[in-house]
Amino acid sequence: MMIEGKTGSWEIVIGLEVHAQVVSQAKLFSGASTAFGAEPNSQVSFVDAAFPGMLPVINRVCVEQAVRTGLGLNATINEHSVFDRKNYFYPDLPAGYQISQYKQPIVSEGWIDIDLPGGETKRVGIERLHLEQDAGKSIHDQHPQKTYIDLNRSGVALMEIVSKPEMRSPEEAGAYMRKIRALVRYLGTCDGNMEEGSLRCDANVSVRKPGGELGTRCEIKNVNSIRFVMQAIEYEARRQVEVIEDGGAIRQETRLFDSGKGVTRSMRSKEHAHDYRYFPDPDLLPLVLDPKWIAEIKASLPELPDAKKARFVSDFKLTPYDASVLVAEKENAAFFETVATGRKDPKLAANWVIVELFGALNRLGKDIASSPISARQLAGLLDLMENNTISGRIAKDVFGFMIETGKDAATIVEERGLKQVTDSGAIETAIDKVIADNAAKVAEYRGGKPALFGWFVGQVMKATGGKANPAAVNDILKKKLAG
Ligand code: ADP
Ligand code: MG
Repeated sequence: MMIEGKTGSWEIVIGLEVHAQVVSQAKLFSGASTAFGAEPNSQVSFVDAAFPGMLPVINRVCVEQAVRTGLGLNATINEHSVFDRKNYFYPDLPAGYQISQYKQPIVSEGWIDIDLPGGETKRVGIERLHLEQDAGKSIHDQHPQKTYIDLNRSGVALMEIVSKPEMRSPEEAGAYMRKIRALVRYLGTCDGNMEEGSLRCDANVSVRKPGGELGTRCEIKNVNSIRFVMQAIEYEARRQVEVIEDGGAIRQETRLFDSGKGVTRSMRSKEHAHDYRYFPDPDLLPLVLDPKWIAEIKASLPELPDAKKARFVSDFKLTPYDASVLVAEKENAAFFETVATGRKDPKLAANWVIVELFGALNRLGKDIASSPISARQLAGLLDLMENNTISGRIAKDVFGFMIETGKDAATIVEERGLKQVTDSGAIETAIDKVIADNAAKVAEYRGGKPALFGWFVGQVMKATGGKANPAAVNDILKKKLAG
């Protein structure tokens, strides 16, 4: 996407830093629980509260999750990495430093393919993934004069995934977030829940004339929905173009997105790495990984979204776009696969899952886990269509009743007498009556207006309550109208 300014076109350059909370029962360096929504300060060990003399102990599960994620990002896993102290003061950071990784992260370069509308993909480079601790939370809205601190989150393991500055539009940034979210959910390394803050994003945005040098970037902090990431980037890029075209310069700074107003606002001038006085944490040894262990983790990875997408395209003859929609959520993909497996027309199954089922779930505000229709039930409905018990038209009605009642398709067809009429005698009777009642139209048709044929089909379908087999209606009607 280009931005048209007074001085011509501008290209947007985007790099994203995603913070993904690691799925683990305990924190990165302590045994305290990570469960969401607990009473404030009820899940805080002495390490998390930075009591003097307390020592961090690395949690093997968190390391394994970072390795899994790195492998999913097609990235290099470093057998030797180092934890550093990143020093800064904040009331919700009792130690006065965050344990993070700086020069030697656990995962370095990799890439992912993002799915763009129309089924295209684009490869985006990953700079690194490192492990770090989350901070606590300051609560400003509980008391008019006081701020409270909740340290439950303090010390929870985060993976920071840093992309290269290779995205060029808000849509690409959105697709990148969706892909990262899908990946970590498939891998089981982060629950991807953006509302609960398990997945948050800092967006780095700059603008430049196409092909020119990279511009100065601003970093928009802590955006917690994909829609907001896209809105924030678009606003920010337009703001930068305006500033530059008005003769100003972009200052490298940290900004906040106000989702109510849809604008970004300056928060502070950008801090630099040297401001943090990084140094290796003397309480922790370098992290050394056994290559055999890395290989075991690699061998245990599940089928990931790209592989599943490719398989859906080749096994079920889906378009790349439909396949990417279906694999975005592991649960949706499994549902589809149950419906489609062994079916003559798997594309029909894809259409019903994507259009009818997702549409209905959307209206009901439900997800696939709480779907009123099971995969087996939807397969039952498709069976009735494929063996000509009901037409596609009637199937939509049956589907509506299934959503309402949770009953099987066959039960509904039986109870409501919706079986397709394939008995040619009954269809002939209906056709004879339509022809007899519409002599003028018949004359018109025979006089050279073949387009009227559709109208006759409609009348017969109406007369049979939509239950006549469309192929039989076509055949018999053609013969009878020929006179
Ligand atoms: P820092 O550590 O200061 O945040 P990094 O070099 O780690 O800086 O970069 C952070 C993010 O900023 C990365 O995702 C990177 O792709 C992105 N980035 C770097 N330069 C630019 C730029 N000129 N425009 C947009 N994004 C950029
Ligand atoms: Mg940064």
